[in-house]
Amino acid sequence: MNAPSSLIDPARRRLVAALAGTGVAAALPGWAAPRATRTRRGPLGVALIGLGGYSRDLLAPALQMTRHCRLAGIVTGTPAKAEEWQRRYAIPDRNVYDYEGFARIADNPNIDVVYVVLPNHLHKRFTVEAAAAGKHVWCEKPMAMDAGEAREMIDACRRHRVQLTIGYRLQHEPNTRAWSELAKSRPFGRLLRVKADAGFNGFRNNPGDAWRLDPARGGGAMYDMGVYSLNAARYTTGREPLAVTARQEILRPEIFRGVDETMRFRLEFPEGVVADCVTSFGMDLNTLRAECEAGWYQLSPFQTYDGIKGEASDGRRFDATLGPKPAMQALQMDQDALAIIEGRPPRVPGEEGLRDMRVLDAIFASARADGKRVQIDQD
Ligand code: NDP
Repeated sequence: MNAPSSLIDPARRRLVAALAGTGVAAALPGWAAPRATRTRRGPLGVALIGLGGYSRDLLAPALQMTRHCRLAGIVTGTPAKAEEWQRRYAIPDRNVYDYEGFARIADNPNIDVVYVVLPNHLHKRFTVEAAAAGKHVWCEKPMAMDAGEAREMIDACRRHRVQLTIGYRLQHEPNTRAWSELAKSRPFGRLLRVKADAGFNGFRNNPGDAWRLDPARGGGAMYDMGVYSLNAARYTTGREPLAVTARQEILRPEIFRGVDETMRFRLEFPEGVVADCVTSFGMDLNTLRAECEAGWYQLSPFQTYDGIKGEASDGRRFDATLGPKPAMQALQMDQDALAIIEGRPPRVPGEEGLRDMRVLDAIFASARADGKRVQIDQD
């Protein structure tokens, strides 16, 4: 069965295509041009690995809207999902893998990119395996469990000369792009303070086998939602934090065992700028605000799948519209595909994920030490 026609609306396809490739690629020291793995022209073939909620509801529908890449393959541990996806998206048997047989993907010329959409503890393993198979890798946030894993992923992709891109979809979103530019132009004078709050009130009913509650699989609010706050603090200041203090809170100990329900953290940036951040699985939070010497600006919501918007003290608005979900994911994947096709660095390379992982390590260290100030590794 083909995708529903609403998902391949030509107007949305054209919008996404028009926006694709408009960004300036990040300068990336040490970046090596990808080895030539493509023998054909046309859109890149993407294999999604892990057919959970994000793949099913956002990425697969978005891949019906993209122009420079298409859903070509799947990797899953659940045979029933494989059957359903094959019918729905006309995926041939030769492009379907399970986790054990994944390495065989090296022999498949129809797959150019593996998009890792697995629980967080599996990001490193399958990024490294995909790179070894000669495939470019798109990996979901958070990049890994810690900075050490993130470095291994970057090294593997460099060694095999494939691109590594992190799925920070907001860094492709037009209002977030305009917001991030203010870190350079500073229309409200010196930046004093950032506030970045991201969370949702969840897990009220029986959470079952939720990996987001399992420490071994990368559970907890900080890994899941906290990276939005952290990444936003960095793109708002345009700088790297020097130190952090963090405290975790657990109001429902029967649900949150060994993972954080809420994390409050303060990042100290150069020149006395601070970012106060809250992330939570127990509160609906979705605001990013910058206080400056001569004004303020704010995005709320700042991390939803669509409808990101904001305003500033001088009356300016952040009101570009990208279209309803999953237009953001389609834009992200088209831009990332174009970076591969054109042989230039992606907008959100693995190094960007690593910068967040270093801060995450320090946040967890501070929370374990009851809020002690922890310096952040700047290497
Ligand atoms: P789900 O729990 O919905 O799906 C995860 C899938 O991974 C499962 O359905 C399963 O797929 C596969 N899997 C393989 N091994 C395991 C295991 N040991 N435990 C559980 N699942 C396993 O997660 P999401 O899709 O919500 O999240 C996946 C990733 O995407 C995470 O890293 C998350 O942070 C990220 N994400 C990013 C978002 C964004 O906006 N950028 C939004 C949502 C998620 P199968 O049955 O096919 O094997």
